[in-house]
Amino acid sequence: MEDQLKSIAYHLGEYRPLSECNINIMTHALQYGTMVFGGMRGYHDPASNNVFLFRPYDHFRRIHKSAHIMQMKPTQSVEQMAEIALELVRRNQYRCNVYFRPFIYKSELRLSPSLHNVNDSFSIYTMKLDDYLDTSKGLRVAVSSWRRIDDNIIPTRAKVSGGYANSALAKSEVVQNGFDEAIFLDSRGFVSEGSAENIFIVRDNVLITPSNNASILEGITMRTIIDLAKDEGIKVERRDIGRSELYIADEVFFTGTGAQVAWVAEVDRRVIGSGSIGPVTDRLRARYSKLVRGGDSVFKDWAVPVYSG
Ligand code: PMP
Repeated sequence: MEDQLKSIAYHLGEYRPLSECNINIMTHALQYGTMVFGGMRGYHDPASNNVFLFRPYDHFRRIHKSAHIMQMKPTQSVEQMAEIALELVRRNQYRCNVYFRPFIYKSELRLSPSLHNVNDSFSIYTMKLDDYLDTSKGLRVAVSSWRRIDDNIIPTRAKVSGGYANSALAKSEVVQNGFDEAIFLDSRGFVSEGSAENIFIVRDNVLITPSNNASILEGITMRTIIDLAKDEGIKVERRDIGRSELYIADEVFFTGTGAQVAWVAEVDRRVIGSGSIGPVTDRLRARYSKLVRGGDSVFKDWAVPVYSG
């Protein structure tokens, strides 16, 4: 943590050591969970010794959309935010895999939880990060007894910090019960997503993931995997998935910036498919891993290089 505190972050309009990036205890965002955030990765390519940010403009576009839902008025454009992220890699002289946590938070000291006419502020911190979930082996997952918050409770389409109390409850429940990750059902009882990942199943070579109205975050990795699958000639369906459909799927996997493409070996103690990584998951995972390091000829523009030389 000591090294982490020395890293350069962006806070209150300036680049400064993380140890100097603090907020007051009365801050609206701390009291009411009124912060919207992103999670973005930069990948180090050993061959070129460059770092590639993965879809930074799409990440900042989503932050702007989350901010709009939460009645925030960011002063930086999507392009300016992306430039700050690139600059942070340079200032920290990263030549490794890096994770970014950009966010806009209601920064006023206020007693009332209302959203309108409350000032906000934009910050980013970064850290070195390799895998978030252990993807070398299949995950053992369980459906949580906690239901996903829905669009008329706290919109999951907005990546708002307050909504992550829901993720925290589910994640701790299943981890304390001995599993690796949680699956949420939505308020109707259909499969929604993981605590911080979207979910896919494969049945008879068709790739299936819930629609944007199943109380999910509209994941950038999910959109990437759908586009990769289509490019590979794999049929993709977006529709409701029932809980028991997970048990009989040929393959199940999670996607997310942190999780990347993480395959699931077991759901609620039922082995999925053969119990090893499935062929569709394996194919998509391999292509994703190459893509994020700038090595895909079709989707090259999604990996944005930091260093010019
Ligand atoms: N769902 C939730 C609840 C998440 O927190 C995340 C991680 N950001 C995802 C899905 C995956 O989204 P993305 O692929 O954009 O990281």
